[in-house]
Amino acid sequence: MDYELSEEQKEFREGFRAFCEKEIAPQAARIDREGAFSFESHKRLAEVGFLGLPFPEKYGGGGKPFLTCVLAWEELARACPSTFLSSGIGCLLPGMAINQFGTEDQKQKYLAGLIRGEKVAAWALTEPQTGSDVAAIKTEARREGASHVLNGTKALATNGPIADWVVVVAVTNPSSALPQRMSAFIAEKGIPGFSAGEPLDKLGARGSPTSDLILQNCAFGGSQLLGEEGKGFSVLEKIQPFGRLSSAAYCLGVGQACLEEAIRYAQKRQAFGRPIANFQEVSFKVADMQMFVDTGRLLLQRAAWMMDEGREADSDLSIAKLFLSEAATWCAANAVQIHGGHGFIKGVKVERLYRDAKLGELRDGTSEMQRRKIALNLLGEGFR
Ligand SMILES: Cc1cc2nc3c(=O)[nH]c(=O)nc-3n(C[C@H](O)[C@H](O)[C@H](O)COP(=O)(O)OP(=O)(O)OC[C@H]3O[C@@H](n4cnc5c(N)ncnc54)[C@H](O)[C@@H]3O)c2cc1C
Repeated sequence: MDYELSEEQKEFREGFRAFCEKEIAPQAARIDREGAFSFESHKRLAEVGFLGLPFPEKYGGGGKPFLTCVLAWEELARACPSTFLSSGIGCLLPGMAINQFGTEDQKQKYLAGLIRGEKVAAWALTEPQTGSDVAAIKTEARREGASHVLNGTKALATNGPIADWVVVVAVTNPSSALPQRMSAFIAEKGIPGFSAGEPLDKLGARGSPTSDLILQNCAFGGSQLLGEEGKGFSVLEKIQPFGRLSSAAYCLGVGQACLEEAIRYAQKRQAFGRPIANFQEVSFKVADMQMFVDTGRLLLQRAAWMMDEGREADSDLSIAKLFLSEAATWCAANAVQIHGGHGFIKGVKVERLYRDAKLGELRDGTSEMQRRKIALNLLGEGFR
């Protein structure tokens, strides 16, 4: 086994880290405070090739393997979790759906604009009454001649308030079994009946706007169907792994940032005549953070490598995502602890990271759902 990244990967990571530290990290506190997505950062991320990293060169992408992508994802999340949530994960999932299931026309129209940073996209699966239980979605797509008419509400959509286009999953065949019941559609901003709710006032990742998306008698022509009718569940099965991979990278970036802040503060803060880093109670917390971050990074890179190799990575993705999301909240809680009361105050970086960290355990499959997936893969159908 070779644990060493190639020289090219190391150089790429260093270069992208320098960019994030110079241009992204200085915005992080402000966009959290103002609850404002940075279109400027989004545009710069397109210019440096970040938005297109995993996509084919034909559409302006970088054609990079996921092992390279996770290096950049970690760096962006380390610099600003909100920016990574919106410009990274939020655009990755709809972009991947178009890349894997779109027609050539759809790829030219939607994917190329996304990669150039001209458009922002969103992924709309969750509904007010259901998130984990995908089979319980209710948004209906009724066939009328050559069109589909969609009615329903999607909830908690990352980029909902700012998206130019959205991949929406809706029920087309309510009487069919799950694999044939749903279809995926592309909803463009401005089509009659399609609107975004008010931006939600969130605990963390506040620089990434989230909202409901409402579809009221919204007519979709054939060119807005993504993939075949009745194959929406296949779209989910193919796209959700990218959600787990990128969410795991979000958590790794947050955990790494917490570790660095904890070290910095522990070496600077004095108590009882010496730096608090000299107390074993503090230094062991830092050591444990390093252990969690390091282990999580290996799990993430293994899962990315398996995806690049075309290997079955279902459990590996869940293990990486579950471990890193719980590691990130642990690291954030202990980074605040090391900062004492000062870590509880707005404007102190670890306070923001503590709020941002929690999201990792919730989106792209909660921790409970990841454990269920791992258990199901170990124990088989009898587990259900
Ligand atoms: C900031 C943010 C951004 C998001 N962005 C998007 C997005 O872009 N697109 C999108 O579609 N969704 C998005 N989501 C939604 C997210 O994916 C869901 O919140 C998540 O899937 C959980 O669904 P839920 O909130 O409905 O919780 P529920 O499914 O109602 O679960 C509630 C609790 O019950 C537990 N639970 C449920 N079923 C089981 C079970 N079988 N066994 C054990 N425990 C169970 C869960 O683990 C959880 O703890 C976002 C959420 C947030 C907070």
